[in-house]
Amino acid sequence: MTEQTTFAPCPKRKQCGGCQLMHLPYARQLERKQARLEGLLGRFGPVAPIAGMARPYHYRGKVQAAFGVDGRGRIISGVYQSGSHRIVCVDDCLLEDETADAIIVSIRRMMPKFKMTAYDERRGRGFLRHVLVRRSASTGEVMVVLVATEARFPLQKPFLAALLDAHPEITTVVLNINDAFTPLVLGKREKTLFGPGFIEDELCALRFRISPASFYQVNPAQTELLYRTAIGFAALTGRERVLDAYCGTGTIGLAAAGSAESVAGVELNRDAVRDAIANARRNGIRNAWFTCADAGQFMAQCAREGERCDVVFMDPPRAGASAEFLESLLLLGPQRVVYVSCNPETLARDLGRLTRGGYRAERIQPVDMFPHTEHVETVVLMSRVKE
Ligand code: SAH
Repeated sequence: MTEQTTFAPCPKRKQCGGCQLMHLPYARQLERKQARLEGLLGRFGPVAPIAGMARPYHYRGKVQAAFGVDGRGRIISGVYQSGSHRIVCVDDCLLEDETADAIIVSIRRMMPKFKMTAYDERRGRGFLRHVLVRRSASTGEVMVVLVATEARFPLQKPFLAALLDAHPEITTVVLNINDAFTPLVLGKREKTLFGPGFIEDELCALRFRISPASFYQVNPAQTELLYRTAIGFAALTGRERVLDAYCGTGTIGLAAAGSAESVAGVELNRDAVRDAIANARRNGIRNAWFTCADAGQFMAQCAREGERCDVVFMDPPRAGASAEFLESLLLLGPQRVVYVSCNPETLARDLGRLTRGGYRAERIQPVDMFPHTEHVETVVLMSRVKE
């Protein structure tokens, strides 16, 4: 049987390269991810059927558009072509939040009237480099971050008024200054132009603050499922000392805090740690602490000091956990480790190390956080078998 597409795939699919699987119907995409995970993780235990989305479109609550100029000097916006810095013009994307896309198009159309130029990468000139929009589906709050090369622009006030008039759903606008020759989107300096400078999202019955630079999962519906799965695997009784490693803004640890004795979170990004502390306070959680440090070094210190730790949540970036982290984890010897992974290859490598160190995989649950792309998130419960 030949494979059928369920809808006309995105016309920009080939140029953009962001959706590697969009040519397949969603059910086939899920089968493919499942087979890949079984190949990589099957030797550790049975892989549960991947949890997909009922409506796998417009799920990205964070949208980032690059701004530039075309050959004729006109302002364009869109995404960088995979592996290059060529801008593919995109006004509406099947994965992105529709409100966020509409705001970006409005900004581009308003720019000439307010004498705002777009950054010309080749010449290293111009004002607006990127626009980042985050919308919380649960609270409806919308943050717009204008990434520009300068801290002020002459028609800032009337531009803001016009933007807020066109999009009253915007709750905060931040100007981020990035004047460096860098592939990084955000610069270090920022100035809040309107509202509080952050938005709040509601997840697992808690409120979380999201700042421009902090890491926050982009697919809210599936994130809730992911966290609930992870916390369910931990089987907390209220007596456990929990460590949330690579904790970001503290989401997993804080959602687990109500069923634990205490939660310690560790995270490298200073802004995210600040948000995590604010999130604990905002939700009246008094048994959670957060430290800004490398997770491996923090674990090594906990192991040296003979800390008691019953459950570890770990949610490392794509590179997986460091060797120092894994060795220290084995020294700490928690009863259960719940590994949340965005990269099954490094997950398989790390599970190999933990398995040799006396742990056994009890549950493996994939969650499809990024339909139409190759990415897949997996939650694994490991239990200590050796005393
Ligand atoms: N658990 C969080 C964040 C997961 S993303 C959530 O679900 O939202 C991975 C996080 O690891 C990022 O916030 C990143 O800043 C952090 N990180 C990357 N390298 C790190 C390291 N060496 N030590 C501690 N945190 C690190």
